[in-house]
Amino acid sequence: MRNTQFPVQRYQYCGSEDIGLGWQHGEALITFKKHGLLGNRLQYLLCRSCGAVLYQRVAEPHRFPPVK
Ligand SMILES: [Zn+2]
Repeated sequence: MRNTQFPVQRYQYCGSEDIGLGWQHGEALITFKKHGLLGNRLQYLLCRSCGAVLYQRVAEPHRFPPVK
């Protein structure tokens, strides 16, 4: 079942539509406080055929402070 909420449905380079979903844990956490532990794991979309990482996002973008 294709998940249409993600921006990548097909990897153009290898032509595969077999897209996988993954989460990165541990030290790659992106925090919204400079020295804080609270943060978001990175969510990944990857090609299950060749392993290319196609897209990444944080789960709760509204919790991060704006730049300006
Ligand atoms: Zn691929």
